[in-house]
Amino acid sequence: YGDYNQKIDYVFKVVLIGDSAVGKTQLLARFARNEFSFDSKATIGVEFQTKTLIIDNKTIKSQIWDTAGQERYRAVTSAYYRGAVGAILVYDMTKRQSFDHMVRWLEELRSHADQSIVIMLIGNKCDLGNLRAVPMEDAEEFAQRENLFFMETSALESTNVETCFLTILTEIYRIHA
Ligand code: GDP
Repeated sequence: YGDYNQKIDYVFKVVLIGDSAVGKTQLLARFARNEFSFDSKATIGVEFQTKTLIIDNKTIKSQIWDTAGQERYRAVTSAYYRGAVGAILVYDMTKRQSFDHMVRWLEELRSHADQSIVIMLIGNKCDLGNLRAVPMEDAEEFAQRENLFFMETSALESTNVETCFLTILTEIYRIHA
């Protein structure tokens, strides 16, 4: 339960990137508020949500940024990446193209972000397993080659969402603490 007078030991900025409609906003909604919506969003503009958690007896405030639709206009700016210590690259495992675009997103990320940024590759919508268009092995191979953490998630069914954020934040903590 939230304690407003809690002492914060670290604030970590993590950015979500990937094509439109892969589920970035819903992953964040699931993690930060345990909510999910099938409605597509109308708002444009960079937004972030925070969630405070305890890792290794330290209070960590995670600040997770969502592109909020900017990626549709290829207008994700360097301000978005500034200060980020983690990045979650999201594709939709039922949309091959969203996975193929991970190369470009990774390039953009590496050109804007700090060298030490921790990167996690996420194949979202694993609840739609019967519509799978990206074999797990393809993603694993890519992740291994590029030195990324990898997981499949479902924001809808909550599968691996908590684990995904906990894994990246724990690794960030390990590097920065
Ligand atoms: P964004 O543009 O990457 O932020 O994608 P959204 O979070 O807005 O999600 C796009 C659509 O996919 C919405 O209709 C969501 O409800 C849906 N969606 C997101 N995550 C999942 C998931 O894990 N499973 C399923 N079945 N649908 C999802």
